[in-house]
Amino acid sequence: MNEREKELSDLLIREHSLSVEEYEELLSNRDAETAEYLAAAAVAERKKYYGTKVFVRGLIEISNICKNDCLYCGIRRSNRNCERYRLSDEDILACADEGWRLGMRTVVLQGGEDPHYTDDVVCGIVRGIKEKHPECAVTLSLGERSRESYVKFREAGADRYLLRHETANAEHYRKLHPAEMSYDNRMRCLRDLRDLGYQTGCGFMVGSPYQTMRNLAEDLRFIETFRPEMCGIGPFVPHHETPFAGEPAGSVELTCFLLSVIRLICPRVLLPATTALGTMHPQGRELGILAGANVVMPNLSPVDVRKQYELYDNKICTGEESAQCIQCLASRIASIGYEIVTDRGDFATDV
Ligand code: SAH
Repeated sequence: MNEREKELSDLLIREHSLSVEEYEELLSNRDAETAEYLAAAAVAERKKYYGTKVFVRGLIEISNICKNDCLYCGIRRSNRNCERYRLSDEDILACADEGWRLGMRTVVLQGGEDPHYTDDVVCGIVRGIKEKHPECAVTLSLGERSRESYVKFREAGADRYLLRHETANAEHYRKLHPAEMSYDNRMRCLRDLRDLGYQTGCGFMVGSPYQTMRNLAEDLRFIETFRPEMCGIGPFVPHHETPFAGEPAGSVELTCFLLSVIRLICPRVLLPATTALGTMHPQGRELGILAGANVVMPNLSPVDVRKQYELYDNKICTGEESAQCIQCLASRIASIGYEIVTDRGDFATDV
């Protein structure tokens, strides 16, 4: 670690903030020693608010039908070789029940932008889960909707919403998405969610095509100003049926470095060690926790559809039952000296 890296690291640790230029410099000149230094600081920061707790979110992948055509995503509408499925309300409630039985106090409903899930359908599902399990937090991750829809979901009881911003650079955004999608609408959604009182999650892929260190620095600066309660980042992993099939995957090392930096920017942020990280490295999720993450998202989807929710190639955890998935994660987390906890794991505001 050269002197300048040490200086930038200490500035970040002290101020929880850097300029775009400084973030870019920190990322571009990083080495193993800097990564270790920042990870130690990130772990210390996280410990103040969450100790060694790792929160669990049960992920229910409700549909792989999508009207969008994001260039990176395996369930984009142009992928004719994707076998499509959609879970019924009853299927989804049964998954949530199973999650509750297994100790999960948050479920995440994630899916493609499937027109079947109208506002009324989504609200019915959210109410159904909340009636049966009032203590269970419900997180939605259903993409871009109107402000009115977000209002209705909130009234139905949804607590949190995950919508990765994907990139904080409008030009880069255009290279990852078809012309009918826009950076401005993505940002409008995030602002609406925030205004409506959701615990809001943004995030991005590491190593997505055309991404530069400058872009990542812009993502960090965006996180600094938006101050999300949650932030999902994971390596880009190519999918063979997309225009980005031949692009290289994102780096595990850089993802972990960014997890530490994000923890230092937002000390209390709920930060998952993602499935994509686990896909790129056999101990990817453990490495993510050791870098500063504090959330894991075991799969609660019915086993017979898991392989079909294929956002990228070689996705892990598509074969086991939910109970096995949680068991496996719990022992991985324990092996590195952390503990899985089953409370709701809300954003820490009282400390
Ligand atoms: N339709 C919802 C859910 C999207 S899937 C929405 O728009 O929010 C959740 C996330 O998976 C996406 O936000 C994206 O960042 C990530 N993802 C998609 N394709 C990926 C790929 N090839 N590699 C890694 N992550 C990917």
